[in-house]
Amino acid sequence: MTDCLFCRILKGEIPASIIYEDDHVVAFNDINPQAPLHALVVPRRHIASLNDLTPEDDALVGEMIRRAAALAKERGYADRGFRTVFNTNAEAGQTVFHIHLHVLGGRRFTWPPG
Ligand code: AMP
Ligand code: ZN
Repeated sequence: MTDCLFCRILKGEIPASIIYEDDHVVAFNDINPQAPLHALVVPRRHIASLNDLTPEDDALVGEMIRRAAALAKERGYADRGFRTVFNTNAEAGQTVFHIHLHVLGGRRFTWPPG
């Protein structure tokens, strides 16, 4: 997807503050952080939204979630708590249509979310 912002970041065409990468997933800091830790965990493969997932993606999504937890733990937020969010489509505020797991930590979050 040449016009996808996150595919372009993954190809190195747009700079990002990458904090983790392996063969399947990449994590980088959100450009507009909402907490002391605000990273995005994205799959290398383009998937537009959670609505497009298939059973073949189950392992990949599991890796994304485990990576988010590992990043929170690295920063010392595992016990304190951290938040993970997937936004899907308009009413949830999805703006980039390449799935990404927000991982936020370092402050207290409210529930329900805004
Ligand atoms: P969402 O609203 O769930 O689709 O989240 C998209 C996120 O991508 C937002 O939190 C943005 O701040 C973030 N974002 C947009 N452009 C960039 C970029 N170039 N590098 C890093 N994060 C970005
Ligand atoms: Zn993409």
